[in-house]
Amino acid sequence: MSAKVIDGTAFAAQVREKVATHVAGLKEVHGITPGLAVVLVGEDPASQVYVRAKGKQTVEVGMASFEHRLDAATSEAVLLDLIARLNADPAVHGILVQLPLPAHLDEDLVINAIDPAKDVDGFHISNVGLLATGQKAMVPCTPLGCLMMLRAHHGSLSGLEAVVIGRSNIVGKPMAQLLLGDSCTVTIAHSRTRDLPEVVRRADIVVAAVGRPQMVPGDWIKPGATVIDVGINRLPPAEEGAKGRLVGDCDYDSCAAVAGAITPVPGGVGPMTIACLLANTVTACCRAHGVPEPEGLTA
Ligand code: NDP
Repeated sequence: MSAKVIDGTAFAAQVREKVATHVAGLKEVHGITPGLAVVLVGEDPASQVYVRAKGKQTVEVGMASFEHRLDAATSEAVLLDLIARLNADPAVHGILVQLPLPAHLDEDLVINAIDPAKDVDGFHISNVGLLATGQKAMVPCTPLGCLMMLRAHHGSLSGLEAVVIGRSNIVGKPMAQLLLGDSCTVTIAHSRTRDLPEVVRRADIVVAAVGRPQMVPGDWIKPGATVIDVGINRLPPAEEGAKGRLVGDCDYDSCAAVAGAITPVPGGVGPMTIACLLANTVTACCRAHGVPEPEGLTA
């Protein structure tokens, strides 16, 4: 069997198009422009790339982008003061603080200072609780993107066996909550799981969010299963000075030979994450103004 490739790049383009259409409607009918504020503290190169991409895509879908770049030595008080101002700013509907923060800043404290209604990353403790109790929440972008692709591929997920490998707060746990919300039978595996291959073999849906290159081989995959590979890992370069190849947590070729469908790396989950950030921002804006939300862009 050769798996259907779930094209995250194409899917993300569709999500952005839906967001752009809704944004245009909000402007025309209600005179509202959704706004996303991104806060970057320090000069982490990967974070700078993400923040630039987020700003560019925000503007491309017609939303307002507010970028706040702060020095790496910024104090907690200064950062909290900025968040308080963004919380109070009616032009800002979404706030994202780029992680990781420099070590002297308390990430939990900072994230929990964001107004939960503007917490478009879905990391605020209130949103975590709302998601866990099946209530309307802001949903973390990466697992939301995975859910959208799974729903598009399967239609209903009800009754399917899902195994999520990884239990992080940003991917594994919210992914498991979302799958449970769609009535999957969910197992969360992690570094202490006994006999991981056997656990993975029972899954109709495997979501790998581990951060270990090509860890999941094809012979762990049940024939016909859907494999969502969240991992982004760079292999060592073949020659000095070159950039190593990007791979996922799954061994693509062997998994694709057995699976029914699979997301590639790159071009799978990655592009969906920013698209879902834009989706969350337009959703937050609609909720703030009490106007109808776009359909199909949230859990
Ligand atoms: P974390 O490091 O926070 O979590 C990794 C999880 O994997 C942990 O729960 C850990 O278990 C588990 N794990 C580690 N080793 C094993 C093992 N040998 N067997 C089973 N489980 C194991 O990572 P994140 O969740 O933040 O990210 C995971 C991957 O997803 C990374 O590659 C990251 O780059 C990528 N990512 C991609 C995004 C995208 O947009 N596509 C967004 C976010 C992340 P334990 O808890 O027991 O230590």
